[in-house]
Amino acid sequence: MADCIFCKIIKGDIPYTKIYEDKDTLAFLDNSPASLGHTLVIPKKHSETLDQMEEKDLKSLILTAQKIAKAISQISKGYNLIQNNGKVAGQIVSHVHFHLIPRNKKTELNWTPSQKFSEKEIKEVTNKIKTLLK
Ligand code: 5GP
Ligand code: ZN
Repeated sequence: MADCIFCKIIKGDIPYTKIYEDKDTLAFLDNSPASLGHTLVIPKKHSETLDQMEEKDLKSLILTAQKIAKAISQISKGYNLIQNNGKVAGQIVSHVHFHLIPRNKKTELNWTPSQKFSEKEIKEVTNKIKTLLK
């Protein structure tokens, strides 16, 4: 989809911090994170919402989400897996995505304004997650 920001990320037209990629899926850091290590997992094939996805693509997507979750579970006490469908449900980017949000503190998720982290912190958490995926 020409005007889809996540399709542009898949094409490499927009800079992003990659966590994991395979044939069908891509995982990268959210650029307005709710916590350090907040990762988005997306299918490479554009669908707007979960219900519109083909079963095989959804299977690949959830398996990638679990792979990332296994790594994130080793750097946090818990995590949220969140998936919004439709503007009314809080979906801003109209390309299916799972949010994987590491949680360490028992407080409300504080999404707006997004959390700010240093380049160093972002680099460190990216390397940690990527190492734990192996
Ligand atoms: P939604 O509300 O649609 O479930 O979440 C969309 C998410 O995509 C938001 O958390 C937002 O910060 C993230 N996002 C939007 N545009 C970009 C972008 O260009 N790059 C990255 N890395 N994340 C983005
Ligand atoms: Zn798209």
